[in-house]
Amino acid sequence: MLTIRDAGILSTSYHPRTQPVDTLVLHYTELNLDESLRILRSGGVSAHFVLAEDGVVYALLPHNQVAWHAGLSTWRDQPSVNARSIGIEIVNRNGNRYPYPEAQIDALIELCRKIIAENPAITPGNIVGHSDIAPRRKVDPGRFFPWRLLADAGIGIWPYDARPEPVGSKNEIRLLLKACGYPQEHAYGRKDGGFVYLSDPENPPIGVNDIVKLTLRDIVTAFQLRYEPDHATGIVTEITMGLLRKVSSLIVEEQP
Ligand SMILES: [Zn+2]
Repeated sequence: MLTIRDAGILSTSYHPRTQPVDTLVLHYTELNLDESLRILRSGGVSAHFVLAEDGVVYALLPHNQVAWHAGLSTWRDQPSVNARSIGIEIVNRNGNRYPYPEAQIDALIELCRKIIAENPAITPGNIVGHSDIAPRRKVDPGRFFPWRLLADAGIGIWPYDARPEPVGSKNEIRLLLKACGYPQEHAYGRKDGGFVYLSDPENPPIGVNDIVKLTLRDIVTAFQLRYEPDHATGIVTEITMGLLRKVSSLIVEEQP
């Protein structure tokens, strides 16, 4: 039984939704429960749900409000993932170092089922981690997040029967990542406390700094963090290539 507690937001860090919800974004908080609730209810960021380590869910915002959880992000060629997503913040100080407790994952599966039932446009391929939609900039929910376990429960996708494939050209890898939904190579920078995409990073607008040029290797690393976390190097092996082909075929199959 899922325990959901009302933890109504106290800030104005959200806005009314104008686009339909078709995406679910999973994060880890980097903070303990109390700190997470404080920041997400009262700070400059927000989420729809905070999921505690014991499996208790704290509901901060209704689905018809846009929460500010994803920041600069792109999925399946659509920028601004916040506008059409539900965000769950899972309490874990660092999902690249610490596993997720079983009670928390059991509750997450129930919570995801409930969200998907209420927002049927969320397809398996649109259940993503923050690292999928903001490669390099974000590494949550991290290498210990049990994507396969979730897929076993019908949440999201997993490339079960992928086989090693000959490594293709850079362009082939680029196209497969795109078919999987990942953003393409791009540049971004920091401006006024947030991030902006840059079309011409050599000549950025005034006031933009900390410029990052996202490479193909960064995007491969994001893919591996999810599907091949013990080999998140950005280097495509035959195993990576097989995973890329399998995941892209699953995504392509679900296109309407
Ligand atoms: Zn995040």
